[in-house]
Amino acid sequence: MGRIYNFSAGPAMLPEEVLKEAADEMLDYRGSGMSVMEMSHRSKIYEGIIQEAEKDLRELMNIPDNYKVLFLQGGASQQFAAVPMNLMKNKVADYIITGQWAKKAYQEASIYGKANAIASSADKTFSYIPDCSDLPISEDADYVYICENNTIYGTKFKTLPNTKGKTLVADVSSCFLSEPVDVTKYGVLFGGVQKNIGPAGVVIVIIREDLITEDTLPGTPTMLKYKIHADSASLYNTPPAYGIYICGKVFKWIKSMGGLEAMKKKNEIKAKLLYDYLDESKLFKGTVVKEDRSLMNVPFITGSEELDAKFVKEAKAAGLENLKGHRTVGGMRASIYNAMPYEGVQALVDFMKKFEAENL
Ligand SMILES: *Cc1c(COP(=O)(O)O)cnc(C)c1O
Repeated sequence: MGRIYNFSAGPAMLPEEVLKEAADEMLDYRGSGMSVMEMSHRSKIYEGIIQEAEKDLRELMNIPDNYKVLFLQGGASQQFAAVPMNLMKNKVADYIITGQWAKKAYQEASIYGKANAIASSADKTFSYIPDCSDLPISEDADYVYICENNTIYGTKFKTLPNTKGKTLVADVSSCFLSEPVDVTKYGVLFGGVQKNIGPAGVVIVIIREDLITEDTLPGTPTMLKYKIHADSASLYNTPPAYGIYICGKVFKWIKSMGGLEAMKKKNEIKAKLLYDYLDESKLFKGTVVKEDRSLMNVPFITGSEELDAKFVKEAKAAGLENLKGHRTVGGMRASIYNAMPYEGVQALVDFMKKFEAENL
């Protein structure tokens, strides 16, 4: 059995080189006589692994010294609570609703304070990013929140919102390390790694130091306090140790590919191949306005639910898996993260052409 092309939105494909290296080290990590899974997270050898992972991530993203990098658990969803609990000093925050993940974050924040939905693209099934150049930002907002790449709907903020001086918080789960970012534009960036970096179970939080304070909302659990994790370098309790080790390998893989500029170029070439075909196809059609298209998640439809289902089934038989759209939107979605090779997208487009010829 060979490997398939896996278009899953997450957990998703990982680079084959990384999986092979991890397999080689499975029983005996570099002469330790142990798997990384079996190591104390307090050991010197594991300290080396987590510190090197952080160093490589800092280098890749050019993270300034006044930002902390935290490797945590609880997924991106837990950050939906951690962000307001740590940042809502005035108990006010502004949310831009561009899809389900932004909406969930907004609903979670509403438990802890006044969350304002200051913009939304719900009127057109989240198929575009609203104009965020002059929003009614609340004067006392503690932060402005976005979901930068909308995994389900396939949109991406190409320019960050004008926050009028307020702290920007972004969920970057599905665009993490897909292209260069200017970290200084954000107060907090976070993402579950299972979309574009590593195995489920790790969430990475990059946070500016002045936002890390003792002054959290009353009742904030210890485990949700950024200060606790920052002060102990992500080793307050047992971290998701094996997952962090795999993330570290992916960081090295991206460095070996030429870093984030090179990743972006590759991702643009892959996405263009698919979008160009969608634009010329008589059967398939993309669902997102062109200027807001994501490089990572590409939703498309035929217009017939029956044909959609037939396509997903036949694609699977051809080794192209997990193309079914999110259960809430239907249709298809191809997630083409960093680890998806160009050949995978080529195979998908070839298959779509064949399917179109047979079914039009
Ligand atoms: C998948 C996803 C989430 C949820 O992540 P979990 O780690 O499962 O909590 C949140 N935000 C975005 C943008 C996602 O793609």
